Amino acid sequence: MADAQQILHDVFGYSEFRGQQAEVVAALVRGQSLLVLMPTGAGKSLCYQIPALMRTGLAVVVSPLIALMNDQVAALNTAGVAAASLNSATEPDEVRRIADDIHSGRLKLLYVSPERLVGERFLRFLDHTHISLFAIDEAHCVSQWGHDFRPEYRQLGLLAERYPTVPRIALTATADEATRADIQHYLHLQDAPVFISSFDRPNIHYHIIEKNSGKKQLLGFIQKQMAGQSGIVYCMSRRRVEETTQFLCENGLNALPYHAGLDMAVRAHNQARFSREEGIIVVATVAFGMGIDKPDVRFVAHLDMPQSVEHFYQESGRAGRDGLPATSWLCYGLNDWIVLRERIQNGNQDEVQKRIELQKLDAMLAICETATCRRVPLLQHFGEASGPCGNCDHCLNPPQRFDGTETVQKLLSCVYRVGQRFAAGHVIDVLRGKDSDGVQRHRHQQLSTFGIGTAISEKEWRSVIRQCIALGYLNVALSPYQELQLTEAARNVLKGETQVWLRPLKPARSGSTAQQQTWLRTEREERLWQALRAWRRQQAADKNVPAYIICYDRTLQNIVQDPPQTPDDLHRIHGMGEAKISAFGEDIVRICRDIAQDDA
Ligand code: ADP
Ligand code: ZN
Repeated sequence: MADAQQILHDVFGYSEFRGQQAEVVAALVRGQSLLVLMPTGAGKSLCYQIPALMRTGLAVVVSPLIALMNDQVAALNTAGVAAASLNSATEPDEVRRIADDIHSGRLKLLYVSPERLVGERFLRFLDHTHISLFAIDEAHCVSQWGHDFRPEYRQLGLLAERYPTVPRIALTATADEATRADIQHYLHLQDAPVFISSFDRPNIHYHIIEKNSGKKQLLGFIQKQMAGQSGIVYCMSRRRVEETTQFLCENGLNALPYHAGLDMAVRAHNQARFSREEGIIVVATVAFGMGIDKPDVRFVAHLDMPQSVEHFYQESGRAGRDGLPATSWLCYGLNDWIVLRERIQNGNQDEVQKRIELQKLDAMLAICETATCRRVPLLQHFGEASGPCGNCDHCLNPPQRFDGTETVQKLLSCVYRVGQRFAAGHVIDVLRGKDSDGVQRHRHQQLSTFGIGTAISEKEWRSVIRQCIALGYLNVALSPYQELQLTEAARNVLKGETQVWLRPLKPARSGSTAQQQTWLRTEREERLWQALRAWRRQQAADKNVPAYIICYDRTLQNIVQDPPQTPDDLHRIHGMGEAKISAFGEDIVRICRDIAQDDA
């Protein structure tokens, strides 16, 4: 039996295992059933693909989406591994061919949809097949807690009973307790060891700004820092998706919309273009989610505030699966928070669920409003302790906080004077001494707080209000009017017993570091990079697969930094296994030589 390390190197072209991969592989090879929780991009697939190559028989991999299966199979085939997928779209001829390959023992991995797997006919077929292992990918689909619930996943428990000697591995990137308990329960993995990795994604740079023009801020970010890169922009509603797509296209970007209101065919087409072409931006609602396995998404932008930290983490986590620098950019305003609260209040969940959702929303606001490292509260939310990360806007440009006690006192006493019966807009009008209809109608010009805050703009007051909500001095009533109310803690501020430090009220001039292709040191490297990308594009088009199936960006980057003289030199390049070296080695060496000769 070839050892795991050897396979990692020869087949996949990687030099070492990452995190807990080696332990997981070893346990599964021994025949143990396991539950694996790893964040997106950590490398879950290798955890069962390598054991599949080490154990005798056929590995059966359950995957919820056809697009995911096809991608994995294409990637394995390019690496020289005999893998196939079986789903509702598979032609009968292909099914027969697969069955033959299974009988002859040639096929090592078979990807199937859950419906297909639990069908009695297929199970009877499996009864006569030597199975090496079952891998259940995206295992959180068994749980109603998540947003990807798939009832068919519940039936996968039968595998434990019908094939008690075959090891099973369940994998997911969803970490919360309730989901984990559901997976263990429904898949009969109560006694299986659980492998949990850190949920940190160190290559993701977090950058969060306050909204003013929204779309223009987004455009500036993309043009200055992400020109020509693939990215996803999440918006709160379908209408915003449409407007934003149009705005980006008018400004010369390659943007495509994606939301549940679009035709299935249009959605599939846009998703396919996103994964196959370079530099496409998909503007989407949360409907654009699972099944995006594209490793080289360089940014995920949220044009509106996500409804929970869980959503934010999952969506932003679609950036940088390949481990190269990527950015999570978020633009938010008080108004987003209010709209989302309204949505929750008006939803048809029960009161308990609503309360949970409101807390989740507040946790998201707290991350937006923090004056320190973004990653610390983010990981804390998933129960992980950490120190300042050095790769977020605040670590790189710490905001200078100021003593805002007096400003906050003005706000809080104004909230008190208007009887805690008015929303932010009205309170700001009073503070700024504005003669609005509302102010006149309620005779609020007579209040002692009328006009005490003229030195601060409306926008800045909104920032103060958001910070007070995040710091726990203000509440917003759960009523259609969203009245501002004081909390217990506000008393101490009003009495002058608590000092309040605020973040600057004017947004900082964007000082975030652009991480754009700074690794290209010379003009020659730039040319080699472009030449390799053009070659990859051609290969991908010829084989009708996404470019990353041919080679990752990371692989091309390694080649640029360390150009091979012979195909054999490619053994030291990330992602170049034997099959890829023999298929592409000559081409790559030739391109490197041509560019070097141009220079000579
Ligand atoms: P996940 O399913 O956990 O999101 P994948 O299995 O898709 O992650 O792997 C993410 C990326 O990391 C892929 O490009 C994969 O080839 C790469 N990768 C996985 N394991 C390793 C490793 N040990 N060394 C280098 N790259 C790896
Ligand atoms: Zn940080």
